[in-house]
This record gives sequence, structure tokens and C-alpha cells, in this order.
Amino acid sequence: MTETMAESLTADEIENVRVVVRVRPLDKIEEESNCENIVRCDIITRSIIVHKPNTPGPPKCYYFDNVFGENSSQIDLYVDTARPIVDKVLEGYNGTILAYGQTGTGKTYTMSGNPDSLQTKGIIPNTFAHIFGHIAKAKDNQKFLVRVSYMEIYNEEVRDLLAKDHNKNLEVKERADIGVFVKDLSGYVVHNADDLDNIMKLGNKNRVVGATKMNVESSRSHAIFSITVESSEMDMTGAQHVKMGKLQLVDLAGSERQSKTQATGIRLKEATKINLSLSVLGNVISALVDGKSTHIPYRNSKLTRLLQDSLGGNSKTVMCATISPADSNYVETISTLRYASRAKSIQNRTHINEEPKDALLRHFQEEIAALKKQLEDGLFDPGSGEELDDIENEEDVDIEDEENDDDEKKDKRKKNNKEKADAEKELLEKKALENEQELNKTKTEQEQLRAKLKSLETKILVGGENLLEKAQAQEKLLENSIAELEMREKTEEMLRETLQKKETERIDIEERYSTLQEENIGKTKKLQRVMQMLMAAKEELSDQQQEHQREKESIYDSIRSLSRELALCELVLNSYIPKEYQSMIEQHTHWNEDIGEWQLKCVAYTGNNMRKHVPEKKISAKESEFVDLSHVYLSYNTESVSNAVRSKSAVRPRTSGVPRPTTLVKKY
Ligand code: ADP
Ligand code: MG
Repeated sequence: MTETMAESLTADEIENVRVVVRVRPLDKIEEESNCENIVRCDIITRSIIVHKPNTPGPPKCYYFDNVFGENSSQIDLYVDTARPIVDKVLEGYNGTILAYGQTGTGKTYTMSGNPDSLQTKGIIPNTFAHIFGHIAKAKDNQKFLVRVSYMEIYNEEVRDLLAKDHNKNLEVKERADIGVFVKDLSGYVVHNADDLDNIMKLGNKNRVVGATKMNVESSRSHAIFSITVESSEMDMTGAQHVKMGKLQLVDLAGSERQSKTQATGIRLKEATKINLSLSVLGNVISALVDGKSTHIPYRNSKLTRLLQDSLGGNSKTVMCATISPADSNYVETISTLRYASRAKSIQNRTHINEEPKDALLRHFQEEIAALKKQLEDGLFDPGSGEELDDIENEEDVDIEDEENDDDEKKDKRKKNNKEKADAEKELLEKKALENEQELNKTKTEQEQLRAKLKSLETKILVGGENLLEKAQAQEKLLENSIAELEMREKTEEMLRETLQKKETERIDIEERYSTLQEENIGKTKKLQRVMQMLMAAKEELSDQQQEHQREKESIYDSIRSLSRELALCELVLNSYIPKEYQSMIEQHTHWNEDIGEWQLKCVAYTGNNMRKHVPEKKISAKESEFVDLSHVYLSYNTESVSNAVRSKSAVRPRTSGVPRPTTLVKKY
């Protein structure tokens, strides 16, 4: 995979994606409909045990890096799962926290939580308190710059949740020096934890919320909240060293199959696309863990392009899979656990991002130094004063000469002098006015410079400054929980060891049979256990077959709906474009693997573009036909053509001034 940040001075660290699972409590509806709790969370062995409803067979067991039961607190989850990642981001590593799971299982609760109380705040607000708590404790030779952006991917379109126009579709781009990025995505520099809190709330308000039958509050979009922390430290020689860590906090859309949500119409179309990006995410995970794949299909969806570094790249990543304990969700729960299990094997290579090309901190610091110099230089301006002195001296000389002349000459000279003096006075007054204006202009310029300097200086945070304000209590809560968690982890580790010892002892006892009968009993037990394992394996196999069948059916569904779209496009094409032009278009189009779109070669030399450059040239009937068609070629995008047909505005003649589809034009 490509190196996206500046060359690292240290060797890459290789580590697996960490996967934790969180089970939420049974909700009101599940309780009222007498749903059975079929999930058990074993904290000691860090496993999730799921009983298949109405089946006597052995339960399924999945092991993870950690598991959180229905009574787990937000703080516990933060301290174990997010805190280590945020600590690394503050050191200059990239970090990603992903919430994956069925709608209504607690992804948004885990990521954002309920902001009303300290205990119920989710990972995102807790990171704010953590980051600014760290800055408050840092040394004062360290400078920080914290900026955020918030976007969502909805229907394979990227939207800026913090922009004024949050419905605009943004482009995903890639550059060799900084990697994949979203063009024109707004970034806000934040000064304290409360700023961040307000920005998160604003973005959440702008999220697309689809009321599906499963959960009225559920979102059908993937939301990515990014926090970039840049830090600079001065070494002994006075040189500044900049590091940059980027934290991506991702609340994915529901992973369930569309039939369960009973989505229809537009919702069905959305669901196909949501499932598309999630299934590409699944394919990326499969390709990464399989070890044999040479091609990882990151480019097949916007989500996977943006998460390219998080999965298999330069990022410390943790996935939090959320599940429901209810028997009614058994199939989705197992599917989530399998998905999460696979993700455990993804390996990432991470390093500190040193002297990154897209860091703003150095740029701001340089600008501050330049502004300060400019202000110092502008504080005294000797030019105007000198000019005034010169004129005064000149007048003195004239008065001395005057005493030596006769009366007539004197009068004439007097008159002349008076006129001269008047003119000079006028000039002087004009100059004085100009000087005053100049002075005022300089003053306002200096004020502007000072304001700019102040605004730049407030952007840069100095280590040791307390910027927590209201978030102080949150940071304290986090701090206190660390010690508590360490204690708990020690106890759990001890219990784990004891359990392991007992297990080996049990096996030892079984091995030492004193009589044939004992041996018989022991071996029968062993046989029973092996039989149980065989049954479980068979059950797993049949479950997997069923899941594959369901997946196959959903793929067939997508194929059917795509075929319908294709038939419509063909109809439009055949109705408006003659056959010979169709084959010409085919000859001149190519698939751009980088952006996942069809492109027309030499589009700059066709149609409206040509007309724009040579307005005086008369266009022949044949050319005119070609120009008309070029508009159609440019719209050759299944989505835009079919949408346009539905809105009855498609393929109008060129002369009507229909604007060109901008997405294609921009690329040429
Ligand atoms: P999702 O984002 O996965 O669709 P939500 O986060 O909206 O799900 O959760 C659905 C509901 O369940 C919400 O009312 C939320 O408050 C509640 N909930 C989720 N997880 C928990 C939990 N661990 N403890 C208590 N309530 C939870
Ligand atoms: Mg949600």
C-alpha cells in the first residue's frame, strides 16, 4: 500500500486491529414482547457465548480482545478501548475507532452517547476531554493545533456536516504526498473541549436520519468525525519538530440486511448502496486477512477509500462491534460476531507522522513571525515627518533674502511670496490631510494585522494552558477510572490464570486412570466432548451455508435492480443517440480505476466546449448534431440519466443552455 504521510524516521510497528464487542441491554420493546436473552458475555475469557433460540445444541462461542456486557459503562469502554488509541494520536500516530453492528444495537450510543450526563457521554465527547486534558498537562515548550472535520457518506455521496450547504456532494481525491482526502471539506480549528462539543452537536443535527421500522432514530449513513492533533516541540538547538496524529471516529450505518428493516422505495435503493459500501468493507477485510490477495478493493466504495489507512495501513485501529441480546436478532448477532472475528486478523503498519506535508502548525507559526515583524517595522514611519521639516526650512531661507531687496521688488516679491506661501500652505494642508489619511490607513492596517495575529495565536495552543472549562469534570472522571480499570484488569488476569491452571489439572486427572472402568468413563466423556465439537462445527457449517444463501439472494436482488436501471438507460440511449454514435462513444470511453467512473477521452474538443472557444464559426448540420449529442455523452452516467428521465428534463437540445453535468467536466 502507498505511503501516505511523510517518510517516517522510525521503523513501522506491526499490530493487529483490536476488536471488542459490546452487548446492550434488552430494550423496552424486546422486553414487552417477551424476547429471550440469548447472549452471555464472559469477561474472564473475553468471549461472547450465543445460544441458538429453540435449539438444544451447544452454544456458539467467539473470542475477542475484550467484551463489554449490558451493564458496562461508557467510561469503562472509553478507558479500555479508546484511551490507548487517543494517547497514540497525541504522540503523532493515526488512530481509528469504528462502531459496527445492526441498527439499534448501540453504535451511536457508543460513539456519541447521551451528552446530558458525565456518565453517559460516548467516545467522541470523551476524546475531547482527554485531548485538552493532555494539552493542559504538557510542557510549555510544546505547541498544539487541534482541528476537526465531520462528514457523512450517504448513498455513496460524501457530505460535509459542518458546511453551510451540507447537501453538496464532495469528491474523494488522492495525492501522493498526503494520501486520500475529501476535496473542499471544511476543517475547524478548536480552542477547547467545549468548542468541540458544540461542533459535534452541530454536525449531528445535520446528519441524514431515516426512520426505518427497526429504529426511528437510526441513521442510514456512515459518519466520520476526524480530529487532527498537530504538536511541535523545540529541541536543544532551537529547531521545531512537528508531529501530526489523525483520529477518525466512525459510526457506520446499520449492518442488517434490507429485508429486516422492511425498507421499500427510496429506502430500498439507499439500503442497496449502504450494503454495497459495507459489503466492500467486508471484501476489504477478507482480502486483507486472506493473505493471498494481491489486490485490496479499497477503491470500490467511498467508505473503504476513506478508511484505507485504518484497515491494513498506517493507523492504530479498534473496532467496536455492537450486538443485541435478544433471540429475535440471533441471525444478525451471529453475522456481526463473524464479521468482527475476521477483522481481528487485519494487520496494520503504523508510525509517527513526523514533519507531515499537510500540517498547518508550522505554517501558522511562520505566519505569526512574519506578522510580528511586519507590525514592528510599521510602528514608526519617519517618511512624513522628514518631508514637513524640509518645507519649513525652505521658508526660513526665503525670509532672510527678503530683508536685502528694494521696496518695489519687495512688494513684488512679497506678492509672489504670498502667492507662493498660499500655494505651499494649500499643498501643505493637502499633504497633511493625505498624511492623516495615510496614518489612519496604516493604523487600520496595523489593527487588522494585530487582529490576524491574535486570531492565529489563539489557534495555537501552548502546553500547560488549561482549556477544559466545562469538560474538566469529564477529564477527572476519565482519570479516576484508569486506576480502577487497572485494578480490575489485575483481578481478571489472576482469575484467568487460575482458570487455566484448573483446566490443565483436570486434563491431568483424566489422564491418570487407575482402573479400566475409570478409563472407560473418562474416554466416554472425551468422546462426548469431541461429539459436541463435531456437532457445533456442523451447525456452524449449516449456518454459514444459510448466510451465503442469503447473501447470494441479496446479490441477485441487486443484479435485478441494476438490470432494470440498465434497461432504462438503454432505452434512453437508443431513443436519443443514433447507433453509429453509440459505438463511437464506446470507442472513446475508458474506465478510470482511480476514481471508479467512466470517462470520455478528448471531451475538451467536443460539443459545447468547442462552441465556447470559436463562437463566430458557423456549425454545420452534422457538427451541430454531434454537439447536441456531446451533451448526452457527458450525461452518460446511469444514475444521472435515469434521474433526469424521471424528472422529465433529460437530453434537451444543446441550444437550450442546459448546464453540463459538472462532475465529469471538472475532470477534464
Ligand atoms: P444504533 O446507532 O446502532 O442504531 P443506538 O445507539 O441509536 O443504535 O441505540 C439504540 C437505543 O439503545 C438507544 O435508545 C440507546 O440509548 C440504547 N442503547 C444502546 N446501547 C446501550 C447501552 N450499552 N446501554 C444502554 N442503552 C443503550
Ligand atoms: Mg446510529
